[in-house]
Order: sequence, then structure tokens, then C-alpha cells
Amino acid sequence: MNIILLGPPGAGKGTQAKKISENCSLPHISTGDILRENISNNTPLGVKAKSYMSRGELVPDELLITIIKERLSRSDCSGGFMLDGYPRTIPQVDALQMILTESGRKMDVVLNIDVDDEELIKRLSGRRMCACGTSYHVDFNPPEKEGFCDSCKGKLYQREDDRAEAIRNRLIVYKKQTQPLINYYTKKALLRRIDGSKDISAIFEGIKKVLENYD
Ligand code: ADP
Ligand code: ADP
Ligand code: ZN
Repeated sequence: MNIILLGPPGAGKGTQAKKISENCSLPHISTGDILRENISNNTPLGVKAKSYMSRGELVPDELLITIIKERLSRSDCSGGFMLDGYPRTIPQVDALQMILTESGRKMDVVLNIDVDDEELIKRLSGRRMCACGTSYHVDFNPPEKEGFCDSCKGKLYQREDDRAEAIRNRLIVYKKQTQPLINYYTKKALLRRIDGSKDISAIFEGIKKVLENYD
């Protein structure tokens, strides 16, 4: 099964992706995590991406397309995969389509997680991240031990782009560049709507129901 998780920043894509990945044994491909890892390792890609990310802008398409092409060519994706945070623009959609066609694959379903702006701002401003990719929330999803990751015990941090100014910009960028993808995947009959305003486990139950229709 090949899945895309679509939704605005803070909708809960990463949170649900972790659960789906465990439940369905699919590799979780988060372009945000890949970029942050490159930044912390100071790779050439990380150096190029850093300033875009801290301003809340999208990183240029050609960099993302190179990343996703390489990632989808790995053997762990041959039995299915889940994309979280890619595609975010129409050129990224087109590139994905081409990569999959070339290798005789296709997308099965696009889960669009819907949450209103007021709630997104609350979620993003209280988010705390672990380097392992797990996200927490100071009020809505706190770790067992304050400031530390439940799964790897790593120290939690606040992302630079989860500060008020970058959040505002990311929501504008989302509406302009990523929201048009909803229409695109609706026309392709791949889009399934998920009400992201519920609590984490209720959303996951809803997603599992939707995914029962695919294999
Ligand atoms: P969130 O889930 O909060 O939206 P992500 O971790 O997915 O954040 O992405 C963080 C940042 O990484 C984005 O604001 C953007 O700068 C960059 N990024 C991640 N994925 C992409 C992508 N597909 N295209 C362009 N930029 C991306
Ligand atoms: P995204 O990957 O879409 O940017 P995350 O999964 O990182 O979003 O979630 C954003 C923030 O909201 C995190 O702090 C997370 O713990 C919290 N969160 C995720 N899902 C919910 C939910 N259903 N209700 C309340 N808070 C949530
Ligand atoms: Zn961790």
C-alpha cells in the first residue's frame, strides 16, 4: 500500500504516520525529518535547506525531488510506503508521478487531515520534538518525563520554525502552494478526508477504517 499524508503544518501527520507505520509495517518517509537530519549533520543539502526552513518557506522543489527519488528507490519501499510532508507543490506531485510510473508503481490513497487554523497554531506552538522524529505537545500529548522522549529517552527541543512568526508564514505558504493538491487528488479519486480535530487515538481509529479498504 502506497499512502500520502496530506495536511497543514501541525495537523498531526507525523503523529499519525508513526502509528500507521507500526500498524501496517510501512516505511515512514518524512521529508521534514530527512531535511532536519541533514541540517544537524551539516551536509551540503542541510546547508542549502536551513535558511528556507527557519523562515517557514518551502525548500526548492529540485532538492526535494532528488531526496524522494533516492528514498523511493530503496528496497524497503518495494512493499509499500507512506509519505509524510511530500508532495507539497504541483511540480513535486508531477515528479512523484513520474518516479512511480517509471518503476511500475502508483499511489493508492491520499489521507487529507483537516484542522482549523486556530487549533493548528495551538498545536505548533506547544510542539516539542525529539531527534528520533517523535513529536510531543506540552499540553495535548506530554511525554511521561517532562523534556524527554518516551521511546528513545532523547532530550526534547522546540523547532526553530515552531515560533510565532515562522508558524504564520508556514500557514500562508501551505494555503498558497500545498492546498491546491487537495483538488488535484480529489479529481484523481484518491483523496480521503480525515477529521483531524479529534483526539489522537480517535483519528487513528478513523484512519484504520479507511485503510481497511486497501491492501
Ligand atoms: P510540518 O509537519 O510541521 O509541516 P515538516 O517537518 O513536514 O513540518 O517540514 C518542515 C519544513 O521542511 C517545511 O516548512 C519546509 O521548509 C521543509 N520541507 C519539508 N518537506 C518539504 C517539501 N516536500 N517541499 C519543500 N519543503 C519541505
Ligand atoms: P505535523 O507532522 O502535521 O506537522 P505533528 O504530528 O507533529 O504534526 O503534530 C503537531 C503537534 O500537535 C504536536 O505537538 C502533536 O503532539 C500535537 N498533536 C498531534 N495530533 C493531535 C491531536 N489529535 N490533538 C491534539 N494535539 C495533537
Ligand atoms: Zn526520541
